[in-house]
Amino acid sequence: MKILLVHVPQIYRKGSPQAGGMFVNIMAMGLFSLASELNNAGHSVRIVHVGIEMLSDPAYRSEVLFAAEKPDLVGFSLNWHPQIYETLETAGALKKQFPSVPVFMGGFTASVFAEELLRDFPDCVDIVIRGDSEAPAVMLAHALRDKLGLDGIPNLIYRRNGVVVINEKLWTPGPRDFSSYDFANFSLLKNAEHFCSPYLLPPGSTLASIASHRIFYLATSRGCTVNCAFCGGGQNTHRQYFHRTRPLFRDIDSVLRTMNSVLDFGWNTFYICFKMPDDDRAYYPALFEAARKRFGRGRIRMLFESAILPDEKFLSEFSDTFNSEGSQLILSPTSHDEAVRRRFLGSFYSNEELEVFLASAHLRKISVLLYYSILPGQNIASTRELIRHQAMLGKRFGAACQTMPIELEPGAPWALHPERYNVRLLRRSARDYYEHHRRMSCEDVPVKERLGFDDDDLVMSLKFFEAWQKKRAAVSI
Ligand code: SF4
Repeated sequence: MKILLVHVPQIYRKGSPQAGGMFVNIMAMGLFSLASELNNAGHSVRIVHVGIEMLSDPAYRSEVLFAAEKPDLVGFSLNWHPQIYETLETAGALKKQFPSVPVFMGGFTASVFAEELLRDFPDCVDIVIRGDSEAPAVMLAHALRDKLGLDGIPNLIYRRNGVVVINEKLWTPGPRDFSSYDFANFSLLKNAEHFCSPYLLPPGSTLASIASHRIFYLATSRGCTVNCAFCGGGQNTHRQYFHRTRPLFRDIDSVLRTMNSVLDFGWNTFYICFKMPDDDRAYYPALFEAARKRFGRGRIRMLFESAILPDEKFLSEFSDTFNSEGSQLILSPTSHDEAVRRRFLGSFYSNEELEVFLASAHLRKISVLLYYSILPGQNIASTRELIRHQAMLGKRFGAACQTMPIELEPGAPWALHPERYNVRLLRRSARDYYEHHRRMSCEDVPVKERLGFDDDDLVMSLKFFEAWQKKRAAVSI
């Protein structure tokens, strides 16, 4: 079968059919492993990144692409909720053009909203793979090719005679499967030479303006051991939709193979985003040491996002292995206030522990970026404290701090149990998210609605913080 796997970013159009900026240009890492497994099973597969296509050809239209490619089956990656409007619109256009071509979706958002997508968007999607998709997608492609029924295919939810059917059988890869997948087969990606990965593309971006943003998101694990209030990818989501209770790790040789493919492709900057399980602190130091032996000291730049405080062994292997120019450790203390941090973050550390870590990283000349936010229940007084806390960390340890609002996302604990966090939600269903992101595509949406919480204090605090940032920027100019 000829199969297209499509990534559609959120596209800001503001009255124009073409992009006035895009969001979520990073493709889900699993698109590569999914494409490789389908390819290995004998299908002809192409990954299409609609953002890259739009930048490559200002007159790009998905209808023209679909007519040229003539796929037998199309899969859309619906991992992050900001993609929902544009992804469903693109899938709907395809279904209108080729009503007989089956369309499936997968990813976190598709998994959380599977039944709703099939029920409320019947003109856009026929099948959802809920959870991991490599083996189910291969079985789906074989079944469609051989004109067999879809019952018995694990993780599948689909419509049969207008009724939503949920297959009972579940599947999740084991460590051996997971380590056998190819996460960097660039030959399967259309226009791979233009591939790059800035999360947000500002209006007016061109292929030339973003060409230097070559950061490869490196899959090392799936799963998480905790539940942060705001995260739709925590332990409970993995347990409910991905059928795993503990994180799954790739073996180190398999990760090195991916790194080698990426280096051969000409990129040398990697991004690992993970929750280090508390019982396996040895994995990443061992990976770094193996990468140093295989690729040499300082050849690679590493951006490493950690949910817990890295220990001394980690810091020493990190600084011995990666190029200090362009490498960074990224943590999200989220709040300066320990009580707030304990309430919203799945893995707590105190400010004192944070400072011990920062002092050690500073001594080793490792750059550190700390992400903070202003959370529901906070106000202008606590925002002033946040500003003081960040200034102190910058002055004492050279840590860079960024403060970003956190939007409501599907499947997150505070979206499922708003009463536990004392928040009032502005959206709940797939249709709500679709409508919200339809507006985001073409209008200036007020801050409160962008966040998804009915919380005036939160909006005031964010505005106060933004005003302070602008004032500081003006002073430093
Ligand atoms: S550590 Fe928190 S933010 Fe990171 S994946 Fe786990 S639940 Fe989500």
